[in-house]
Amino acid sequence: MKLIDLNFMDTPNSIAVYLYETNDGPVLFETGPYSCIKYLEKGLADAGYTSNDIKHVFLTHIHLDHAGAAWHFAAKGAQIYVHPKGLAHLIDPTKLVASASKIYGGQMDLLWGKFEPIPEKQLTSIEHNQEVTIGGKIIKSLHTPGHAVHHTAWVTHEGIVCGDVAGVRIANGPAMPPCPPPDIHLDNWIESLDILLDENPEKIFIAHFGEFDNAKEHLEALKQEIIIWDKFVSELYKTKPLVKQAISTFEEWIETRILSISNEPELVSLYAIANPTWISINGLYRYYSKKFS
Ligand SMILES: [Zn+2]
Repeated sequence: MKLIDLNFMDTPNSIAVYLYETNDGPVLFETGPYSCIKYLEKGLADAGYTSNDIKHVFLTHIHLDHAGAAWHFAAKGAQIYVHPKGLAHLIDPTKLVASASKIYGGQMDLLWGKFEPIPEKQLTSIEHNQEVTIGGKIIKSLHTPGHAVHHTAWVTHEGIVCGDVAGVRIANGPAMPPCPPPDIHLDNWIESLDILLDENPEKIFIAHFGEFDNAKEHLEALKQEIIIWDKFVSELYKTKPLVKQAISTFEEWIETRILSISNEPELVSLYAIANPTWISINGLYRYYSKKFS
């Protein structure tokens, strides 16, 4: 598995995609946003390929930081593998783009770049535990909701490509849950981490950011972190039910948590880029508004 750093917003160690060699050419896990296409094409070139060589793209979920350039590979003939609940939004991205626009407003183009529909015949919907064999390599899907209802992790013989269900982890920092709207569900997320642990993984590959050898330790630590977040943020929601009342308390709390685990102040700003606190509090508050209504 070869990591390609997309240098998102010219920041290294923020968004990764993975190139996986098979006897039938390379497979791409995730595409990142189209705004990073020049870095993705450079990464492919370094491995001896162009976009035209990618015939299979496996998406962990359809958020634009993971799937934003999928249409580009489809336009060059690739087949795109995706969770059944994500499929319709790639054929007609109107709702996906509208939902992202609610969060990112005028920043859409700068952050994510162009996003275009993908023809239905180039999309393959993959069920839970389904295996796909490409060039002698078996790739198995694990439906893993919690971060998104349409989230899939992909099991390979080298380890599990986890997208965002295994959290955000930068360098020696803690594993933390990225919680954007609209469908964060912390109880489902914890169940999904158990699904990953049941595979007994040694290695995981995450989008934000990198590969980690101590997979089980990482996944257990994220479970505990989600339990701690759930306790803190649900209480915060009860006392300060509006995001604007709670944002500064949440930001300070996140900073304290990062430092209590890693004690490396420079990590705070790196986490803020890969996993912005203002986005997570909006996703969590939406979750609690449904849960407590
Ligand atoms: Zn992401």
